[in-house]
Amino acid sequence: MAAVGFDVWGVVPAVELSDAKRRFEQWLAGGNAYRLDYLERNIHKRFDPQALHPGTRSVIVGAVGYKNHLSEGYEAGFDCRVASYALSRDYHDSLREMLRQAAQMLGFTEPKSVKVCVDSAPLAEKSLARLAGIGWIGRNSLIINPRLGSFMVLGELLVPEECDEYSEPYGESGCVGCGRCLLRCPTGAINPQGGINTTLCISNRTVERASEEPFDTRGWLFGCDECQSCCPHNASAPHYRNPRFEPTFSPLDYDSEFWANLTPEEAESRFGTTPLMRRFKK
Ligand code: SF4
Ligand code: SF4
Repeated sequence: MAAVGFDVWGVVPAVELSDAKRRFEQWLAGGNAYRLDYLERNIHKRFDPQALHPGTRSVIVGAVGYKNHLSEGYEAGFDCRVASYALSRDYHDSLREMLRQAAQMLGFTEPKSVKVCVDSAPLAEKSLARLAGIGWIGRNSLIINPRLGSFMVLGELLVPEECDEYSEPYGESGCVGCGRCLLRCPTGAINPQGGINTTLCISNRTVERASEEPFDTRGWLFGCDECQSCCPHNASAPHYRNPRFEPTFSPLDYDSEFWANLTPEEAESRFGTTPLMRRFKK
């Protein structure tokens, strides 16, 4: 996995994740999934890799750090902010390529024998990442690795072989005694008991479902890094190592007038390879 650009990885047996499924259903029942109807479909597949891709015996989980110069935050008053993961080439494309390369290198040459997952398939990737020993699930609901922090993207490779030795799950939480992200979240979207209320989450409202209802995004145009930039585990995390995550533009070069007048054609020519295009394709 290192040879194809992953920073951290682990391998998990393909078994049902019953505890994580129960917590997810409680979260859904609490009305926390704003217009995310797709989350209510295929719940059994999300928490059972064998149901998602029959024949799966193991799941290889890989993580890549993308922290860059804007991950630590913007100057106060700058109101055209873009989440730092969206400054580079779309991670879905990068991780899919890397996982396909990994499958080849591991000898899985029959494409249908494996499944590559990067957000697009229903799969409980954060629960799997914890079981793969990559990190703990923080109060900001993100996987936090003790070295890389939370500015990471995750991808999974479902394979039809058992592994001689599986990873040790990450057992501890580095959130004990902290709560900075709860205090920092501009909209109070982080539930003190755990989980995010996506109705209030700026990231969800600007990325997953740009709402037609009025919503104050607190200066964020796309995504939101507030609950990450304040996290002490990100303070000493290194910047990206994988060149695929080099930023291709800087939001600091653009003001609100630019964004207000931006045509889809110009957006495509300037930002066409980045996740930001989701904003223009709705
Ligand atoms: S800011 Fe503190 S509570 Fe929030 S995710 Fe980071 S360590 Fe955990
Ligand atoms: S992404 Fe922003 S709005 Fe959403 S929980 Fe984190 S700090 Fe709050």
